[in-house]
Amino acid sequence: MSTNTPTTKANHHISLEDRHGAHNYHPLPVVLSEGKGCYVWDVDGKQYFDFLSAYSAVNQGHCHPRIIDVMVKQSQKLTLTSRAFHNDQLGEYEKYLTEYFKFDKVLPMNTGAEGVETAIKICRKWGYEKKGIPTDQARIIVCGQNFHGRTTTIISFSSDPDAKGQFGPYTPGFESVPYGDVAAMRAALDNDPATIAGVLVEPIQGEAGVFVPEHGYLKAVAEACRENNVLFIADEIQTGIGRTGALLRVCGDCSCGGHCEQQETYVRPDILILGKALSGGAYPVSAVLADDAIMEVIQPGQHGSTFGGNPVACAVAQEALEVIRDEKLTQNARALGHIFRAEMQKLVDENPNLLTLVRGKGLLNALVINDSPESKTAWNFCLNLASKGLLAKPTHGNIIRFAPPLVINKEQLLEACSIIAEVVREM
Ligand SMILES: *Cc1c(COP(=O)(O)O)cnc(C)c1O
Repeated sequence: MSTNTPTTKANHHISLEDRHGAHNYHPLPVVLSEGKGCYVWDVDGKQYFDFLSAYSAVNQGHCHPRIIDVMVKQSQKLTLTSRAFHNDQLGEYEKYLTEYFKFDKVLPMNTGAEGVETAIKICRKWGYEKKGIPTDQARIIVCGQNFHGRTTTIISFSSDPDAKGQFGPYTPGFESVPYGDVAAMRAALDNDPATIAGVLVEPIQGEAGVFVPEHGYLKAVAEACRENNVLFIADEIQTGIGRTGALLRVCGDCSCGGHCEQQETYVRPDILILGKALSGGAYPVSAVLADDAIMEVIQPGQHGSTFGGNPVACAVAQEALEVIRDEKLTQNARALGHIFRAEMQKLVDENPNLLTLVRGKGLLNALVINDSPESKTAWNFCLNLASKGLLAKPTHGNIIRFAPPLVINKEQLLEACSIIAEVVREM
């Protein structure tokens, strides 16, 4: 088997990071310097399939020419005004985005975590002003094993000891129930519903290891929220924008690509959080969408961001969404997802000693390695994949997420599957 030992050139970059950067990540020993579509290249010119897509931020593929073109053009004209003044990109973008996702209003931010923080603030304020929750009593129900970002408030309701440990004191007002469990959610909502402002969920838990709840879970949670006058908040930062074979995962198994409101499957969140691929992987953009009755609780001076809604972000995000629609990437993710899982299922069936199962939706999938989360098996699996030209990363020890850019075609996907099969055979 070819070796994964980094070259002298790669080692130069790795040791610079090691010496001068905080050690808050544990990357694979690969140093990338170029990307195009579903491929990236390292500093020695070696080509790889990117099967992480920057945690689903690069759905449109690396350096998409249309997105880069818009970014360059806007950067040469006007980059930042702050929201102290208007700019000629923001209104156009807000109109486009709210029509695309069918909400009255958007509040623009930059990173995913900021989007989640924004949603929490809107939800709490709605709880006090519209629902009549007594001051400082508002509660938000979240799910176990969640991942919503890295701020002090967000990690306050994390169940991951690495994410949370030694960062207290924690923000109160959050309660966790097991993910995917309608009865547990209903029980939590039945306990003093008058002080519950919202329920915050990931439609599929990506970071936790691509946990797909049972069909009907999201609809049941949304209904339970409605019955109790509680806001249903969907964090679609990782699952949204075509990744799971629907424009939004809350669209469930509807085949519309996210542009209809099919009664059976469409679950409309009260607050929708987007990030990651909203930018096409080019520039940090996040957004919180809601209808007027909710968004109007935020008035001037109560929330904001220096960079939120800047002209480059607006232009880039609009183009990124147009690319999704024009290139039918949602439909591609859906079709290729079936092929990918079928190919992986063959490997699982043939290699039960190494592989436990494959799961996912669209092109957000995970292969569970038949070994303990503490074992090195998944990490070594990924090193072997890298040496054969495919990049993926373990999450929670023994789970490998496979999430290529949605621009990947069938031929490329099958080639990637054969790389995975080769590594399975050799292990
Ligand atoms: C990545 C992610 C976030 C945080 O986004 P950042 O841009 O890293 O702050 C929040 N929620 C979900 C579901 C995510 O996948």
